[in-house]
Amino acid sequence: MGVGPRKTPDTPVQYLKGIGPRRATELAAAGVETLEEFLLVLPRRYENRETFQSIASLKPNDLTGVTGVVLSCGVRPTRRRNFRILEVAVEDETGQVRAAFMNQVFLQDLFKPGQRVVLYGKVEQRRTGGIQFTNPEYELIEDASREQDATIHMGRIVPIYEKLASLTPKLHRRVVHQALKVVGDTFEDSLPEGVQERLGYPSRSQAIAESHFPQKAVALEELNRFRTLAQQRLVFDEFFFFQAGLALRRRELISVKKHHSVTVNDRIRAAALEVLPFRLTGDQRLVLKEIVSDLTNPAPMRRLLQGDVGSGKTIVAILAALVAMENNLQVALMSPTELLAEQHFSSLKQVLGRSRFGLSLLTGATPTRERQRLAEQLADGSLQLIVGTHALLQEDVGFQQLGLVIIDEQHRFGVAQRAALGAKGSTPDVLVMTATPIPRTLALTVYGDLAVSNIYELPPGRMPIVTIARSDVARADIYALIRSEIAKGRQAYVVCPLVDESEKLDLKAATEMSEELKSRIFPEKRIELIHGRIKSRERERIMHLFVTGGVDILVATTVIEVGVDVPNATVMVIEQAERFGLAQLHQLRGRVGRGADQSHCALLHGEQISDSARARLKVLEQSNDGFVIAEQDLNARGPGDFFGTRQSGMPLFRVGNVIRDHALMERAKDCADEWLQGRDVSAEDRAKMQEKWERRFGLVGVG
Ligand code: ADP
Ligand code: MG
Repeated sequence: MGVGPRKTPDTPVQYLKGIGPRRATELAAAGVETLEEFLLVLPRRYENRETFQSIASLKPNDLTGVTGVVLSCGVRPTRRRNFRILEVAVEDETGQVRAAFMNQVFLQDLFKPGQRVVLYGKVEQRRTGGIQFTNPEYELIEDASREQDATIHMGRIVPIYEKLASLTPKLHRRVVHQALKVVGDTFEDSLPEGVQERLGYPSRSQAIAESHFPQKAVALEELNRFRTLAQQRLVFDEFFFFQAGLALRRRELISVKKHHSVTVNDRIRAAALEVLPFRLTGDQRLVLKEIVSDLTNPAPMRRLLQGDVGSGKTIVAILAALVAMENNLQVALMSPTELLAEQHFSSLKQVLGRSRFGLSLLTGATPTRERQRLAEQLADGSLQLIVGTHALLQEDVGFQQLGLVIIDEQHRFGVAQRAALGAKGSTPDVLVMTATPIPRTLALTVYGDLAVSNIYELPPGRMPIVTIARSDVARADIYALIRSEIAKGRQAYVVCPLVDESEKLDLKAATEMSEELKSRIFPEKRIELIHGRIKSRERERIMHLFVTGGVDILVATTVIEVGVDVPNATVMVIEQAERFGLAQLHQLRGRVGRGADQSHCALLHGEQISDSARARLKVLEQSNDGFVIAEQDLNARGPGDFFGTRQSGMPLFRVGNVIRDHALMERAKDCADEWLQGRDVSAEDRAKMQEKWERRFGLVGVG
């Protein structure tokens, strides 16, 4: 190792032996540039290699490791073409066991007779008798007398890492060992005074060392559940920093005063009652009260309104808009798609049509001349409410006095877009609405600086949707269902998936589906096709036709996923349902069940689908509750995939897992709040911390 300046946690990884320029580049792409970042890649699991199980004692279904010497290694062809099995026989003092590697013939070069190996995996019963490991994890053990290998890879609890860049398991372990030697005792403890002692945590340096190479006495089971104090300390450090940043932001937000003020009096209450088309449910009334209280507060509102599809969020938003407008403020409502913006616009017109306020629609399809006119009216204050898409964000759109921004289906917008709309007013109140509820375990993380209102209750008279999953083979039954509903005067949706990679093909599938239905299955019915490529004027025409009952079956791609509201539609058929995620299926299903009649949802899937797809469809058959479904979705997919991208506001943690460690997140929040209370953080410190925080977690919330 070279001499030179003292190494610190910030030293580039390339300093390490085994990490050359190429590997350093790969690691950087995986977000690992410094020694500290490298050491924060914690093991995925741990293996106890102090003692191995003896081969003679293996039983089917054991999940375990053995070590031994390769006796023989050979390729066995099978009856299936292109499918070959590599069989390796391994022996210890007590007996022999076989390891079978499917289609990994290249491993042949590794398993030379006499080679020492570790095998780890599930023990399976062979159909022909005896037991074997199938596709086990393996590691070659070099000459055990080599001092290093003897202490790093064997004879202890050994860390097993997720594959990182092109590091082999052993190289990874060796490099970690080296990095710990270099900077292992230089990590600073940044938790506030007393917290470490109170929680009984080891120092950060000790925590990092022990999370990689645990001491002997630690229970393997605790390690693998990430429950040791060393591991928890590292998770806590990360969560604490995250929550402290949020707490700081919250405090700043509270200290900001709005430039406008909102009051509610009897005249305004009467105006609201006047437009109300039905009695609000208890939950709607409750959330409205929360929103109005925010509006009348001196600090700008930052509130999330969660409610399942069909729970009636729109009317709540409309009433909030009315309150703002009665206070001489302008309102902007932004939707993720044109179709949805159009729908919102028509609901708003229906409700507010008789009020004294002007409202208009602005989307990408609005002609330039019209857009200029709207921009002028917004600028001079003669237009009070604008509904639109991203088009609202264009530079030429400015407001006289934007008081309230409402963002629908906010998970569809990037954080930057939300912030851009907010920036159009000086300090507008912001209400975001979503029908994809954030599971409770995540709310604290994702919406750390947002207040949350929930609508759980559905409007009265709704019947739960009956959902069935069927393979394509049962297609005729589903057509019979459509037929009988149409005979009762109801309408149906048939949705075909639209997945980015093969948009053209998907579109073709939707087009063919509609042709097939028109020509062969329902020649006498009125069928229309709608998708994102159809010009908005034509789409509006078709939607209008569907809303007014002039279409029996609407074949659509997922453009209808959000917002479309046609209570007379009682059948939702989803083609290739296995291609959708749970939350999306639930959203689609929510297009029906909006009236007083029994509605049905049929999930059609291929004849052979994966177990996980089958499980997803089963969840939908069994539950209509968006909150339950969101939890299940999160459990099935993990926090990373649940939100898809960083853009959607989900911070990425290095060490912590918001599901596994959610109790720690709560504790971190309490500690952070307590730490900040009554403390003066200098502007300089705050800026420094914020910079680091944004770099680390990106923006969260509504910007
Ligand atoms: P979402 O929360 O999915 O946006 P909507 O606001 O579109 O739901 O409401 C779904 C349907 O329920 C609409 O047809 C709406 O008019 C109706 N609705 C909402 N609230 C009530 C209520 N309190 N009583 C009766 N119908 C209601
Ligand atoms: Mg809606």
